[in-house]
Amino acid sequence: MDTTIAFAAADVPVFRKRLLDWYDANARVLPWRVAPDSDAQADPYRVWLSEVMLQQTTVAHAAPYFERFTQLWPTVRDLAAAADEAVMAEWAGLGYYSRARNLLKCARMVVSEHEGVFPRDEGKLLNLPGFGPYTAAAVMAFAYDEAANVVDGNVERVMSRLYAVKTSMPEARPELRRLALLWVRPERARDWPQALMDLARSLCRPKAPLCLLCPLNGACAAFAEGAAESYPRKAAKVAKPVRYGVAFLISSEDGFVVERRPDRGLLGGMLGLPHLEWRSEPWGEVEGYDFLGEYTHVFTHFTLRQQVWSRHLTQAEMEEHLRRHNKYQLLTWAEKGALPTVFAKALKTQRAFP
Ligand code: SF4
Repeated sequence: MDTTIAFAAADVPVFRKRLLDWYDANARVLPWRVAPDSDAQADPYRVWLSEVMLQQTTVAHAAPYFERFTQLWPTVRDLAAAADEAVMAEWAGLGYYSRARNLLKCARMVVSEHEGVFPRDEGKLLNLPGFGPYTAAAVMAFAYDEAANVVDGNVERVMSRLYAVKTSMPEARPELRRLALLWVRPERARDWPQALMDLARSLCRPKAPLCLLCPLNGACAAFAEGAAESYPRKAAKVAKPVRYGVAFLISSEDGFVVERRPDRGLLGGMLGLPHLEWRSEPWGEVEGYDFLGEYTHVFTHFTLRQQVWSRHLTQAEMEEHLRRHNKYQLLTWAEKGALPTVFAKALKTQRAFP
């Protein structure tokens, strides 16, 4: 594990208490949450519903949907009995309809197999449609006040900074989960992950974290390094391989030669200039053509360095050329906007072209 431990394990309860005290004073009020000083139990149905909605959007966007759903279907039994179309219609605007379908499936399974009560068992929760480790842990902690390791991107960020984890994301994930587990205790099990998430949102922000205000700064290795913002570490960008190509600009007064690319593969189905294979070795001279220039185009997986060679034809020569090569067609100069960027760049290598 490539991690700097800034404080002893024995200090965990001390800093845990500091964060919980901070949370008691600063907890966000959310419609699905129970206030930190309340003895009330959160409703597992409301916790689950909010977590599913929050998987794909912000609290501000999800809150009105949550209010509407819980007005229309106040319990998991009501939701299970709802018509599919009604639920889908209310879900519109939250995206990812597969989640809405899983929502219904899950509600119906909770009713048919668990008598309308979300099981108080992480393993059983994981068997419900749409449940993953995060949602199961969230229901266990937020609804049932059970010690559970609730780790989302916010908690990962806090852990990566507390321990100055040098492993880059996403490889660091299992390590960050292990570190988060060190803080999980039965005392205030519900409040602990909520406190971490509130800290991540208000102080331990991705950019410009407010470390001087943070109740954990005495334990934080990234703060001690003066490099909080550099965590979590991102993988160094791998240099893209370079490929070399040659594009042909065969033109006349009216336009230039293009071909329709095969449906499958890169730029499938689009128009392109005729070109030589994009390969790892540079190409040499091309006989019968004039060298116009070279340009670079960056694709997701490689960088293309493409030479442009040209030949100008009379109208009669162009007609003959197209007749002999029936995979080619003429694109007029006015239509040049139909070319994808990687080929449009070829036209710009020579200003003389219209
Ligand atoms: Fe995050 Fe700064 Fe607090 Fe460390 S001291 S946990 S980096 S806000």
